[in-house]
Amino acid sequence: MDQFKNYIYNILLEPSIRSELEYFVQEFDKNPTAYDFLVDNPQSVQENYKEGYIGLSQRYAKAQQMLKKKFPGNTHLIQFQHQLYELGTFYLHWQAFLPTIQMLGTPEQVQYWQDLSFNYQIRGAYAQTEAGHGSDVQGLQTTAVFENNSFIINTPSASAYKFWPGQLGIFATHTVLQARTTVNGKDIGIQTFVVPIREPKTLKALEGVDVGDIGPKLGFLRADNGYLGLKNVRIDRNNMLMRYTKVDENGQVTTSSKNAIKYGYGSMLNLRVGLVNVFSIFGLFTNNLAYYQVKPLLKTQSIENEAIMFRLLRSYVVQYAQIIANAQVKEIFIRFQNQLKANDKQANETLQLVHLYSSQMKSISGWEAVKTSREAMQIAPFGHLNASDLTIIYADNVPFVTYEGDNNVLMQQTAQYLLKQFGKVSGGNAQFTGMASYFNKYTQENNQKSQLQNQEEILERLSYSYCKKTMENFQNSLINGHSLQSSWNELNQCELIKASIIFGYTNIYKQMGAQIKSSGYNLELLKIHKLFGLFIILENRTTIVSFGIADFKQVEILAEIDQQFSNNNKLEFLEYLSNGVGMYRQRNFINIDWDKLNLQAKL
Ligand SMILES: Cc1cc2nc3c(=O)[nH]c(=O)nc-3n(C[C@H](O)[C@H](O)[C@H](O)COP(=O)(O)OP(=O)(O)OC[C@H]3O[C@@H](n4cnc5c(N)ncnc54)[C@H](O)[C@@H]3O)c2cc1C
Repeated sequence: MDQFKNYIYNILLEPSIRSELEYFVQEFDKNPTAYDFLVDNPQSVQENYKEGYIGLSQRYAKAQQMLKKKFPGNTHLIQFQHQLYELGTFYLHWQAFLPTIQMLGTPEQVQYWQDLSFNYQIRGAYAQTEAGHGSDVQGLQTTAVFENNSFIINTPSASAYKFWPGQLGIFATHTVLQARTTVNGKDIGIQTFVVPIREPKTLKALEGVDVGDIGPKLGFLRADNGYLGLKNVRIDRNNMLMRYTKVDENGQVTTSSKNAIKYGYGSMLNLRVGLVNVFSIFGLFTNNLAYYQVKPLLKTQSIENEAIMFRLLRSYVVQYAQIIANAQVKEIFIRFQNQLKANDKQANETLQLVHLYSSQMKSISGWEAVKTSREAMQIAPFGHLNASDLTIIYADNVPFVTYEGDNNVLMQQTAQYLLKQFGKVSGGNAQFTGMASYFNKYTQENNQKSQLQNQEEILERLSYSYCKKTMENFQNSLINGHSLQSSWNELNQCELIKASIIFGYTNIYKQMGAQIKSSGYNLELLKIHKLFGLFIILENRTTIVSFGIADFKQVEILAEIDQQFSNNNKLEFLEYLSNGVGMYRQRNFINIDWDKLNLQAKL
């Protein structure tokens, strides 16, 4: 396997079972057709999603047998088997339900629920969102009240119904669920519970449980997103996950640290960090589909190809940049977990860092996956036809910007961070710290032009100038007598989000640079890094010029991507990038199935 592909696999594969997963990747490479059964086929799912779902489950079971045979007893392999080929039918069971228990449960609770999950005695969903409460977790209305060594769970109103969770609609037997919790009359905040909802064999809803599928939706055809209302449902006290906050049989509440709840939710950032890779892989899939479908035309030069090649190139470069930069975030997340285990005081600071990086990266990678798939539909000759599969993937990508934190909401957390940083420094004595520490380099200058050879400097100055201007505008709104609410929500929100996005792209560039440095400067990685910087500079050239960071001519020279390639090696590089995630190549989709186009009758 070449160095680049190997590098990307290493980042994508779960570290604890990397060698086992690598074994299968190599097997697939040796004999691809033998593993065709693993490849997703969205069209069959589209025709009848319930049957499609069952079909996927059967394939999943078959894949599981294959893994068990080779590495018996390796439960981790089962939990992460979806990494070998697709998101997996039970993605949320393995990557949301079970990890929530693994992170918020005591060792005994983890053992208990893990055993049931690994044996498929239960299938779980993750039910946080309510019909009326998504981004605002503190506003959740589902209640859990301690009574006689149990908790009584209730849905007090229609807007408190759990709404959207995947697998809840038809197949889940259990769900983890967040509820506002009261013990002996005292509100102990939002806690997380494991709630049985269906009889495992018959899938019949349990008493007091109103559960079902929310119905047709855009994308996610194979997912049974559901609703859930609970009426006086009594669950055992031990079904509350008690790693950080414990409630004993007398209703005595103890918390292991004042940061307990924060750490609890911080541990679950795991899902967000993982999703950056998922979104990027989806972006790469989609780009591959478009590339393979348009490639015959590019080769014969029968279409104007420069713009197409550039758009494909941009999508590849951005998705790889995200995957590589995310490796840094993963490392920081692992550091946080280790600090937590060691009761290290630094854990709090590290958690803030993971939170900021992961929310920026989740948002940018979600937006980029949607952008890539929209471009892909335009690039591929039959991109808007379902037979191209691109329409289906596009629809799957669209909700990326909403779930696991709405992007615009997440980006405002970065804006809050930036505001704090500028507030601290405006006092005169303090310096920018953490992610913003590079701003210190530019505070003393008055619009000096950058050294144009240095992409990093251009991006840093762009980020600093844009953030500074936005934070000043916000402060001016307050000085001019507008309320905090109006200064934020009505007068500056769009710019606060935009500044955070520029800050976010610059961070991806910088993280990627650090990651490449630590990996020993592979040539292809450096090329991707450089192209990523060029694309971002090109897209922000007007702003760069208006801030006096460079003039138009300088930016044009800097962004002359064409000079990096002759026409031929642009195509070669595209081909190279298209193979970077070979294991996810989705073999069935790379050629148009002409039969599906119904042209035969007319010819
Ligand atoms: C396909 C799909 C799968 C999902 N799967 C799950 C799942 O398995 N489990 C689960 O619990 N949930 C799931 N969800 C729900 C998802 O996490 C929520 O939709 C998401 O958190 C946003 O919440 P909301 O829909 O209530 O929107 P809201 O938070 O109400 O947002 C609505 C609009 O208001 C804006 N807005 C909200 N707050 C602010 C603010 N402070 N400032 C400015 N603008 C704001 C948002 O940008 C958005 O445009 C899923 C959603 C989808 C689409």
